[in-house]
Amino acid sequence: MARYTGPVCRLCRREGMKLFLKGDRCYTGKCAIDRRQYAPGMHGQSRGRKPTEYGIQLREKQKARRIYGVMEGQFHGYFNEATRQKGTTGDNLMQLLERRLDNVIYRLGFAASRAEARQFVRHGHFTVNGKRVNIPSYLVRVDEIVAVKEASKSLPRLKQIIEGLGTHPVPSWLSLDTNALTGTVVNLPSREDIQLPIQDRLIVEKYSR
Ligand code: SF4
Repeated sequence: MARYTGPVCRLCRREGMKLFLKGDRCYTGKCAIDRRQYAPGMHGQSRGRKPTEYGIQLREKQKARRIYGVMEGQFHGYFNEATRQKGTTGDNLMQLLERRLDNVIYRLGFAASRAEARQFVRHGHFTVNGKRVNIPSYLVRVDEIVAVKEASKSLPRLKQIIEGLGTHPVPSWLSLDTNALTGTVVNLPSREDIQLPIQDRLIVEKYSR
């Protein structure tokens, strides 16, 4: 399935909540969810039918997929990997998603959204342990150091971000060095570290049907 390239605010409206897909705009009065609190499409304002149990589980999976910008097949791959790991499948799934390099760059504040972080990675502006990594789905490990590539520090957009670096809270499993422009993975994120309104239990139930 191809990556969704339509208006991203539509995805938030479909899920009925802010998914913060557009960076700074999401925090302004221009946010589409604040202006139109109903689902997109011609039936968006009708009351509709009561969602089924499957419908609720599906929406929760779609929400997670859209927040992290992951396609269906890849998301299923994460789920399969999560079931193979020790521990709770839902926690494992969320940890795998959170360890993606594009998410880490976003969490550190080097990008305004995961989509922007993904583009930075694809264009080779970041390194992991000194080596250029251009795979957004790369899973970071403990003690790995994510850094802005030296030659990329002068890019206008990155320069602008670097000037405001450190103003957003960084999760406790990561540590940011605003002088060296690096971020270190202190430990792997626990479920409590991932403050997202996702009920992973429903996603597990959907795939276990
Ligand atoms: Fe979602 Fe951000 Fe668009 Fe608001 S501005 S609807 S939070 S993507």
